[in-house]
Amino acid sequence: MASIRLFTIRGIPVRMHITFPLILLWAAVQFGGTQGNWLRGAAFGIVFTLLLFVCVVLHELAHSVVAIQFGSRVHEITLLPLGGVAQMEHVPEKPLQELAMSVAGPLTSGVIGVGLAVLTVLLFPLRIWGDFLRALGSGGTLQWAYLMPYLAVTNLFLALFNLLPAFPMDGGRVLRALLAAVLPYGRATVIAIRVGQGLAWMIGLAGLLARDVFLILIALFVYAGAAQEGRIVQLKTALAGLRVRQVYSHPVQPVQAEEPLSRVVDLMLSGFQTDFPVCDGERLIGMLSGSDVLRGLKERGPDTPISEVMQRNFFTVQLEDDLFDVQQRMSEQGLEAVPVVEGSTFLGLLTRRDLEEAYRLVLAYPALLPRRSAGG
Ligand SMILES: [Zn+2]
Repeated sequence: MASIRLFTIRGIPVRMHITFPLILLWAAVQFGGTQGNWLRGAAFGIVFTLLLFVCVVLHELAHSVVAIQFGSRVHEITLLPLGGVAQMEHVPEKPLQELAMSVAGPLTSGVIGVGLAVLTVLLFPLRIWGDFLRALGSGGTLQWAYLMPYLAVTNLFLALFNLLPAFPMDGGRVLRALLAAVLPYGRATVIAIRVGQGLAWMIGLAGLLARDVFLILIALFVYAGAAQEGRIVQLKTALAGLRVRQVYSHPVQPVQAEEPLSRVVDLMLSGFQTDFPVCDGERLIGMLSGSDVLRGLKERGPDTPISEVMQRNFFTVQLEDDLFDVQQRMSEQGLEAVPVVEGSTFLGLLTRRDLEEAYRLVLAYPALLPRRSAGG
């Protein structure tokens, strides 16, 4: 993601997506007319938005700290125009852990909101609330004194909004964790997704009736988030516990490093294979993907030896590796095939097609591929 590192807190880099300044621009325009003087209004909008994002960082940091407690790794927190995202290695799967991690964010927003509200009461005369809410409702003049109550209200709204029981909102995870305490994880996810998508329909309908584009966007966002969570969990339920041994392709046609690219082209045209292991005897020394071949042909011609275009750094898998973990790594790195080895001996390839076949087979008839029991 194109982003700029701002600072590091508790070992977690906080980054700003390059589109983030757009929200400041939007705030400047949006608040420009609210204080009589355009410049003063715009300044209010920008300061308010920056302070709000400090609160958003605290919200994401709360998720992260709890996740780290449970052994997850947090790569970074990224600020996007519409909010923050904490990118984690994996979400804790034990229901209680997922519950604690998910609640931590909205709880933090709630505490900040209540804290600022109390501070407002202590620092300002009580009538500031009435004045502020009237100004907010009528689009009237916002004074600098309203900054604190405004932040308080917005944080309380964030806490409640994030608790909506719909993926990708925190509330979706809370719901799943509660369900998973009494149901299998996959089943709990399916129900949580249905609830989320039902809610998305309702939000969308309300948006259509009220002609509110913002609500319709939220509905689409929630719907897509739920569908994506569903795909990941479905894949995981299908592949986890299966081993590379059960689905990898063998025999696979290997090629030799000194052979020309034209030899690979012949093999590609006469068969289904598009990725080729490059071997020296039985020893695997390189990998050649379909796109390596095309690039080599274009830049150097068909007589180029394979050794000049093959990948020398590649990741390998073992027979006993877990299919879901391998699938995750392959999709992270955009790989079509990975070599299966034992020591340095090449055994075959695990391709994306193998994974898709295994996935479809397991969905159709689970007993076909016996699963290793947990911890086995
Ligand atoms: Zn959150």
